[in-house]
Formats: sequence, C-alpha cells, structure tokens
Amino acid sequence: MRRFGLIGFPLTHSFSPAYFQNKFQKEGLTDCRYEAFPLASIELLPELLAQHPDLCGFNVTIPYKEQIIPYLDEVDEAAREIRAVNCVKIQRNTDKNDNCQLSTINCQLIEKDYRLKGYNTDAPAFEHCLKEGWQLPDKALVFGTGGAAKAVAYALHRLHIDFYFVSRNKVNEQTITYRDLEHPSKIHNVHNNNLLDNKNLLKDYKLWINTTPVGMYPHTEESLPLDFSVIGSEHYLFDLIYNPEETVFMRQGWGKGAHIKNGLNMLYQQAELSWEIFKGQ
Ligand code: NAP
Repeated sequence: MRRFGLIGFPLTHSFSPAYFQNKFQKEGLTDCRYEAFPLASIELLPELLAQHPDLCGFNVTIPYKEQIIPYLDEVDEAAREIRAVNCVKIQRNTDKNDNCQLSTINCQLIEKDYRLKGYNTDAPAFEHCLKEGWQLPDKALVFGTGGAAKAVAYALHRLHIDFYFVSRNKVNEQTITYRDLEHPSKIHNVHNNNLLDNKNLLKDYKLWINTTPVGMYPHTEESLPLDFSVIGSEHYLFDLIYNPEETVFMRQGWGKGAHIKNGLNMLYQQAELSWEIFKGQ
C-alpha cells in the first residue's frame, strides 16, 4: 500500500482526498490511498509519520504552508523563495542502521528514518493556467498578500509582469491599499521611481488577480471594493477562488467584456503536479 494525504486544520471541505481517490480509481492505482489528516498542531507531524510508515507524500494546506518548513530536510528552490510549501515527498531509509538521522525540532532531538523534501506546486499551477489561452498584459494588480499571493508573485516575476500588491494595509513599497485606489492621488511607482496617478492604475494594470477569500462560499455575494466601471475588453480577471465557480469579481469583469478565469483548473493542476512529485524517485 502506498499512502498519501493532506495535512491542515480543520479539513472539513477539502478537495484533495476526493480528487486523488477518484484519480486512483480511474487510473487503476489499486495500491494507492489518499486520506485527510487533520492536525490540531504542526508539532503532531512526527507522530503522524511514525504512525504511518507507508506514507509516501502529503499535501499541506492552511494553516501549515509556512509552519511546515522547519520540519523539512530539504526545500525546493521555488518553495524556499515563496516561503510556502504545499507538497512534501517522503523518502524512507530502508537500512535503518546506516541511515538513521537525528533531527532537531523545537529543541528536541528526534531519531528519524525518513527525509522530507518540500515543494510549492501552487506557483507553477497558477503560471500554467494564467498563460493558457491569454495574451497577457504586462502589468498586474494582485489583491491580497497571503500565501497564495506569494505564489502568484513568484509566477509573475518569472513572466516579467510588473505588479503591485493591493492590501487592506500599507505593508511595504510594493503594496498599495484599496483606499489608495479609491482616492485619486499620486503614489510612488516602484518600477521607475516616478509618481503614478492612482486613477489610471486600475485602467492601466489590466491583469487583476484575486488571491483573497472575498466572494468564496458561503459569502458568495461579496466582492472587492474596486471601481469595476474602468474595466474594458482588454482587462483579464483571474480569481483563485473555485467555489463558487463564478464569483461576483468575475461577473463584474464579464459584464464589462473582460476575459475571466476561476481557480478550478489551478486546483487540478497543483494536484497533478503534486502527483508527479510523489511518484518521482
Ligand atoms: P491567506 O493566506 O489567508 O491570505 C488571504 C489574503 O486575503 C490575506 O492575506 C488578506 O490580505 C486578504 N484578505 C483576507 N480577508 C480579506 C477581506 N475580508 N477583504 C480583503 N482582503 C482580505 O489565504 P491564501 O492561502 O492566500 O488563500 C487565499 C484564497 O486563494 C482562498 O480563497 C483560497 O481558496 C484560494 N486558493 C486557491 C488555490 C487554487 O488552486 N485555486 C490555491 C491556493 C489558494 P491583506 O491583509 O493584505 O488585505
């Protein structure tokens, strides 16, 4: 039996267990099993690994995408840069005598017979879905500054797309607030050091990416406090939300002739990329 799973907390409406169980069934992978492992604390991870010696890999979701990092022996370069891991491959040492390692977690020395390597599959999944079928504008606004926003930023850097984060709070120079967008004023353009007129920002930055949970089930009638009237047919709106499949954010763009996408394909794509990592040697 090859066991895989998902850690996070709580895991009430998780997509991955049903997706992978369905995939294993469809592809005749009868020796594979995928389960949800709700962990009330990340400190319970070593115990979980000890309890399931057949666990070969697992996905990581809220709230552990960053907290998992100290538990890993190795972190893939992209995940290190994003500072978030959503996929972990487990390598078990078959010869315990030769390979037992000592690991320090929370100042405790733990003998362990496995190595954990962390990856981020959200970023390549987003990049793949963003590019698919779209002639991308060269300037973007990323709404939200959480874990998903960091994966999105990594992809935008790779695609040489200039962007600002839009946040409820002014965090740093590359972040503007929703209030900045509402009230016409001049803000500092981090890309060329000029002053930028806010009013034009929503018009000129034609790729809008929602990485916030605003509009997600069950609050499906909510949307971001933006002036959607500036949108035209050259705007591209990508909402990372996948439930509902059509958010108010997307509808407001669609109504103005914009191109729209939801987060469903990204969700499938990150799961498939995780599978490629799990099954690789
Ligand atoms: P997160 O770490 O909690 O971050 C969400 C960010 O949204 C926060 O940092 C916050 O940014 C902003 N935000 C939260 N509540 C808000 C509100 N009421 N109004 C305006 N902004 C608000 O969550 P995450 O892991 O990044 O996930 C965010 C969303 O992306 C979720 O809906 C998740 O389901 C989705 N997601 C989808 C995929 C996919 O494969 N499709 C993958 C990952 C995540 P500020 O504090 O800066 O405003």
